[in-house]
Amino acid sequence: MRTKITLACTECKQRNYNTTKEKKNHPDRMEFKKYCKFCKTHTLHKETK
Ligand SMILES: [Zn+2]
Repeated sequence: MRTKITLACTECKQRNYNTTKEKKNHPDRMEFKKYCKFCKTHTLHKETK
């Protein structure tokens, strides 16, 4: 059972990515280092509700 999540840049708070995760494997909010086109660099992106 995969759950849809949104990843938001922690620098500018823009929601840049949609993805899915296995909720039972990752019950907590996930964090990814990804490219933010607004910051024009790689920033930490956190899962949002
Ligand atoms: Zn950003």
